Amino acid sequence: MTTAVPLVDVKASYLRHKEAIDAGMREVVESTAFIQGPQLKAFEAQFAAFCGTKHAIGVGSGTAALHLALAAAGVGPGDVVAVPAHTFIASAEPITWLGATPRFVEIDPQTGAMDPVALKDAIDGVRAVMPVDIHGRPADLEQLSAVAASAGVPLIEDAAQSHGADVVKADGSVVRAGGWGLAACFSFYPGKNLGAFGDAGAITTNDDDFAAAVRKLRDHGRTTKYEHEIVGYAHRMDTLQAAVLSAKLPTLDDDNARRVELMAGYEAELAGVGDLWFPPATPDRRSVFHHALLRTARRDDLLAHLRAAGVGAGVHYPVPLHLQPAYASLGHKRGDLPLTEAWADECLSLPIYPELTSAQQAQVVDAVRSFF
Ligand SMILES: *Cc1c(COP(=O)(O)O)cnc(C)c1O
Repeated sequence: MTTAVPLVDVKASYLRHKEAIDAGMREVVESTAFIQGPQLKAFEAQFAAFCGTKHAIGVGSGTAALHLALAAAGVGPGDVVAVPAHTFIASAEPITWLGATPRFVEIDPQTGAMDPVALKDAIDGVRAVMPVDIHGRPADLEQLSAVAASAGVPLIEDAAQSHGADVVKADGSVVRAGGWGLAACFSFYPGKNLGAFGDAGAITTNDDDFAAAVRKLRDHGRTTKYEHEIVGYAHRMDTLQAAVLSAKLPTLDDDNARRVELMAGYEAELAGVGDLWFPPATPDRRSVFHHALLRTARRDDLLAHLRAAGVGAGVHYPVPLHLQPAYASLGHKRGDLPLTEAWADECLSLPIYPELTSAQQAQVVDAVRSFF
């Protein structure tokens, strides 16, 4: 059976922005400024303005952003970095690349994000804290920042899923994802809320020195073309990707608003159906719903039912990082992070993207209802 409603639809996004994307890419091709061309600088300024930060630095991927941010923060061999296990493995890999060790911190069962109380219990000996804005909702950044600050260590936000999400602080001011801690890391993987035509990412920060360090590290530690002050990386964003992202950024706020509307639709239409549970809203931490996530004890059967009905459902993520074979050397076992494990066992993501039509959404809702 063909998938009548895909989980994400990158093609629909391209078609909606086709004119601007094609024109932007043509301009780069004709100028042949493929590496760090003027379109990259333009996108960096636009994305910093979008996030409300002083700097945005375009890099090769979200994973590269995490790698560079941790390196620029001084994380190195023997260090420990606090990170959740309910996330994509890229949140932890760069910690390992730098010779450091991830310390997996339990989640808040209402949101799936790092629990500030669990962080407090785990903070001893930690060199940096990396919460993840999982599924598009900012982690409890105000509380997590306070725990990190009291331990005197930097917070680096994994904002790979939360472009445009925001937090209303206790004092009433609003800070968008990207504006927290020492720095934040974004991914522009094609299926993300802001997606490139390949790999791309960005680091945002309000710290001038940190921004300069990241710019140097991303480009071979260069000061001039053939002077290399430090050993750096080849973690630049292609100019072509910057052109694609600049073409799509102007509609991102509206696109996120459509995701919020679609999520509200799912919650309204599926309230009280079977044992379905939706993570409750947090009015002071507004999600951009990268995933339309729900939980059910019958997850695997519902998943099979939806796929048979032509509905592209997904699981984000089925195996928490502490139980991944890649991290077997850390010696974790099932039961070490029970709230994280329960989330992984029960979570399911329904299709969500700005171009999803009301008719398509009705089809998804019918398919879920018919299962229960
Ligand atoms: C997508 C993602 C990443 C990695 O981004 P890439 O651009 O694919 O390298 C990191 N962390 C989280 C939470 C992600 O969702």
